[in-house]
Amino acid sequence: MILRIAIPIPMYQIFEYLPPPGLQLIKPGVRVKVPFGHRTMIGILISQVEESEIASEKLKPTYEILDESPVLDQHQLKLGHWAAEYYFYPLGETLHQMLPGLLRKGGSTSIMSNTQTWQLTEVGRCTDKSTLKRSERQQNAWSILKAHPNGLHQRTLIGLGIDTKALSALKKKGLAQNIVQEVPNNIDNMMSLEKNSQLIIEPELTLNAEQSKVFNAISMTNHFKTHVIYGITGSGKTEVYLQLIAKYLMQGKQALVLVPEISLTPQTIKRFESRFNCPIFNLNSRVAQKTKAINWLNTREVSPCILIGTRSSVWAPLTKLGIIIIDEEHDISFKQQEGFLYSARDLAIFRAKMLDIPIVLGSATPSIETWENLRKSRYRLHQLTHRAGGSNKPSIHLEDLRKEKCKFGLSESLVKRISNQLNKGEQVLLFLNRRGYAPTLYCNDCGWIAHCERCDAKLTFHKKSKHLKCHYCDYQTGIPLSCIKCNSLDISTQGQGTEKLEGHLESLFPEIPVIRIDRDTTKSKSAIDDYVALIMKGKPCILIGTQMVAKGHHFPNVTLVAIVNIDIGLFSSDFRSSERTCQLLTQVSGRAGRSTKQGQVWIQTRHPNHPLLRLWMTNDYPAVADFLLEERELAQLPPCSFMILIRAESVKKSLCDEFLRTVSQKLFALKQASDLTLLGPATAPMERKANRFRMQLLLQSANRAQLHQVLNTALDEINTIPAAKSVRWSIDVDPQNLI
Ligand code: ADP
Ligand code: ZN
Ligand code: ZN
Repeated sequence: MILRIAIPIPMYQIFEYLPPPGLQLIKPGVRVKVPFGHRTMIGILISQVEESEIASEKLKPTYEILDESPVLDQHQLKLGHWAAEYYFYPLGETLHQMLPGLLRKGGSTSIMSNTQTWQLTEVGRCTDKSTLKRSERQQNAWSILKAHPNGLHQRTLIGLGIDTKALSALKKKGLAQNIVQEVPNNIDNMMSLEKNSQLIIEPELTLNAEQSKVFNAISMTNHFKTHVIYGITGSGKTEVYLQLIAKYLMQGKQALVLVPEISLTPQTIKRFESRFNCPIFNLNSRVAQKTKAINWLNTREVSPCILIGTRSSVWAPLTKLGIIIIDEEHDISFKQQEGFLYSARDLAIFRAKMLDIPIVLGSATPSIETWENLRKSRYRLHQLTHRAGGSNKPSIHLEDLRKEKCKFGLSESLVKRISNQLNKGEQVLLFLNRRGYAPTLYCNDCGWIAHCERCDAKLTFHKKSKHLKCHYCDYQTGIPLSCIKCNSLDISTQGQGTEKLEGHLESLFPEIPVIRIDRDTTKSKSAIDDYVALIMKGKPCILIGTQMVAKGHHFPNVTLVAIVNIDIGLFSSDFRSSERTCQLLTQVSGRAGRSTKQGQVWIQTRHPNHPLLRLWMTNDYPAVADFLLEERELAQLPPCSFMILIRAESVKKSLCDEFLRTVSQKLFALKQASDLTLLGPATAPMERKANRFRMQLLLQSANRAQLHQVLNTALDEINTIPAAKSVRWSIDVDPQNLI
């Protein structure tokens, strides 16, 4: 017997080892500890075979089998295999990435074995919650146990944020009891909930005619289909998701909800929590390592349950998955930008297909890729065209900055409007997609501009934290008192960032709270929650934010939304920038007037006649999407063709060039038989980043299968190019970012 093991290293092969003595047949998907070079590594068993081509005395023995049952089941292994192949990423590294951090490091899956079930006692059930009012934690624990009369596993409770101390305290008071089971890890059985119909704890809204139509069409079949809900902001997409999910929970199944990375997810989670009485697990960057591992394991065993999370949740081992929802499907955070460059959206579709379950992509601004798939009838379109809560669409206006006096980037009329709105007791949101105080520091005498030493980029001036910062490599340096080049003291900042705008508005409206939401102000975990709570109070305030505030949340008293500078996005070299600008405009505008009060949106621009802006103003996203798709078709750009980008980085530019040139030659030799286009090697638009030179080679074809096949054929040879070992290189399939 030989074990074939995938090891997390940047090599494409699978390695063979001798099994530990006396080993019986084990299932693929278990973790195995093996020697590799001078290191010990944790790999995943792919298969057991009878014979190896390598002489058995040359094979090394396995140190240890870490799991009794697979950490990756056969569906996940299939997903992993597919992903590794599609993204040209080594299988060992792919499978490694699918696991939560603690399991990657060899942590035990029984870190929290499910041998204990907690339940309220008779006394506990009859107790009034208010008797626990001195401990919020005990109250929370009591509420959850009360809602689950059959009891919950300790691990489920911990995954839901209940700590064991609170449980023990309830036990001491005689309010709760824990039952220890002999067989660990059996599925939490909450099916009896269905009979008591306690699963839904908040009455569902009565769907309006449009919503019903969408709901009925999607719930017609439990089989695989990619549904797209194109619904304007506030049209009630989330309500449709909730009701679809309810249907599957009732059947005892699980739901996966993927959300963008920097949305204000606590609000979304609350909405789910107030609707459903079933475990709702979270996986995102704000969840601690250990809870992540616990929740990941919980999704194997707890059903019904809902998992709400960012892109890596697509790997979670949900064993009874009934439906997948991708909210804001156009969002670029679904594509990982470092290391393993996968798209969670595309993988989720593959997973739904493999499991033969429905998947719903929702957006007010579907991506052009999705639009093309709709046009080709690969996906099914559902539309929600008006706001569901009874609010009206906001009115939209352009403000021609060429005709206006501006101070700190705000026109006089806009300042008047802000003031009016605040006087009416309403809230204002200003959108500026640039954090920091100012994007440029320069010398008035010699024209010197502060640049990052390590990148092809300007340094951003951060006033409060008193430093210059590179937003690409995080390099930081103090603020010089004089020009670095000519020593002149006459240096100043140019342009606005959110921090400068904040200062300006604070001085204009000293009585009014100014809340800035960007990466710099939300570093602490609770910061966003605090800001949201403040805004939800509804008192007049000014909200300034980057794209973090553009997404998915609902502030009923925001009635004026202003886009401070749209021009940054109108003239970029990236072919996707017009799509992104339109999506952002729609998302941000959608924050205005979401409740009973009429909203208005003002867009400041120096290019009021820009054709795209004009088209977007007609408030007809399908027309915008058609227009953009036509542009792509003419230029043969994605989604009307397919791309793979090979990037190389090194401190020596010549090495990148040598490597990519050789890759290009190898591909060129194969290209004759196909319609592959090779562009480059060329220096990347951002030539230097974090002290490394960057070059790229673009492969493009109208035929995806051929494109993949050519690269696949060349892959082994590419790996043997001598320079491959001395440069950092990567393959980006369906790149979202050509920088
Ligand atoms: P979206 O997800 O499309 O932005 P939401 O589901 O958040 O829309 O709905 C926007 C608002 O409309 C919410 O306040 C929601 O409670 C309300 N709403 C949604 N559907 C209905 C309905 N059928 N009846 C009444 N109000 C609704
Ligand atoms: Zn100077
Ligand atoms: Zn830098």
